[in-house]
Amino acid sequence: MAATVKDYYEILGVNKNASQEEIKKAYRKLARKYHPDLNPGDKTAEQRFKEMNEAYSVLGDEKKRAEYDQFGKSPFEAGGAWHEGVRPDFAETYDFGGFSDMFSDFLGGGRRHEHYPIQGADMLMGLELTLEEAFTGVTRPITLTREIQCRTCNGTGAASYQTCEKCKGSGKLQASKGFFRMSQACNACRGSGKKITNVCKACNGRGVSLKTDTIKAKIPAGADTGSIVKLKGMGGAGEAGGPPGDLRIEVTVRRHALFTRKEGDLYADVPITFGEAALGTKIEVPTIDGVAVMTIPSGTQGGQKFKLSGKGFPSPKTGSRGNQYIIIKIAVPKDINNKAKDAIKEIEALYKESPRKNLGRH
Ligand SMILES: [Zn+2]
Ligand SMILES: [Zn+2]
Repeated sequence: MAATVKDYYEILGVNKNASQEEIKKAYRKLARKYHPDLNPGDKTAEQRFKEMNEAYSVLGDEKKRAEYDQFGKSPFEAGGAWHEGVRPDFAETYDFGGFSDMFSDFLGGGRRHEHYPIQGADMLMGLELTLEEAFTGVTRPITLTREIQCRTCNGTGAASYQTCEKCKGSGKLQASKGFFRMSQACNACRGSGKKITNVCKACNGRGVSLKTDTIKAKIPAGADTGSIVKLKGMGGAGEAGGPPGDLRIEVTVRRHALFTRKEGDLYADVPITFGEAALGTKIEVPTIDGVAVMTIPSGTQGGQKFKLSGKGFPSPKTGSRGNQYIIIKIAVPKDINNKAKDAIKEIEALYKESPRKNLGRH
């Protein structure tokens, strides 16, 4: 019978009420720390790694965990009431087949160590656009260097290989520990089941090669700061036959001299003279796609807002356009001679009441 086995919760550093998510998290954290690949030759790390795997294989499985909680840790302790063979069905429950499958899910760091396909990493890049470019949408050539799967060896890194003798190609080794029969990744082939006999010369065994190419990135009309355009399959190379990651382009739209954008709407300040405001007129105003003519009604006030329907930004999804708003500013002449002063005084007389009468202090 095996020597003392520590409490599984203790091993993973979680409390008894920990959720499956917490257990998984704790396990992953420890796995990253104690994985043999990361600690070559470190016996303590190896021991810890074994323990945590054992603990996780029980606590990470609701059914096994319930059984463990019910029976406590007594059967696992030296001198405990139960001994090997007393509860063979109990021991049977703990078959760790498939353990290395689960493991490879997240320990993708060791290229070619696992033969399970792993998707390549996503790449992120920034792209700055003018407001006009964001409005029309653009196709930008982007030159990027990325890892692609080596075509010569299909990402295996091997020119030739033979079946691993130690695990007979299964990639797994059975180990027993007390009650447990564990299946661990074969240490001779690191779970791949294959032993490389000749390294691929095209990639020096890395399984990937660098490729620089220029691609056309199409940014749809209506993109805004923070918009992400995903180019599928243009990220890092996958491993062991896994698909490549994606290239994600994060858009930043530069400030514009005339227009301020709020989602689908554009805002522009437009100065007019006092006379234009008082008498009314037709003026030309800038819009994102050219000049528009708008009517200023007589009696227009400073700060008044006019809407130009459908002159805003298109939605990248539906293409339907927001509005443009014109905010009126009254421009006042700065050079005023005596004759003008008299004229202005006449205008002052037209105000029948203070324009500030509604401010509450008058
Ligand atoms: Zn290769
Ligand atoms: Zn092997």
